[in-house]
Amino acid sequence: MKIHLNLGKWSYELEQDEETGQVVVLRHVPLGLLQKAASYVKAEASGLVGSVPLPQVQARMETCAGCESREVDGGAWYCKSCGCPKWERSRLQVKWEMPAATCPLSKWPE
Ligand code: SF4
Repeated sequence: MKIHLNLGKWSYELEQDEETGQVVVLRHVPLGLLQKAASYVKAEASGLVGSVPLPQVQARMETCAGCESREVDGGAWYCKSCGCPKWERSRLQVKWEMPAATCPLSKWPE
């Protein structure tokens, strides 16, 4: 029988041997990583079913433009506070257009 358990900052997948009762840790991952993955999937999915109105995209852009967490790399803007790895889908230009994307410092106007 497999059991999923969140303890502190870790998520564990455990398995109990039905004959011996011995419990074995199959894997453990940082809970923050799972939350980031869930947040990313939610943001990407929101872009498939909806869009952000242009004034709101512009407001997000203007907020990031004046933020100390903004990082520019080869013409792409990234957020140093979100914890995302740098890649095509983590560019701020992409996130501004995802309805469920959020600013990690809650700076974006609603
Ligand atoms: S997403 Fe938020 S924290 Fe990141 S650069 Fe933009 S305003 Fe700053």
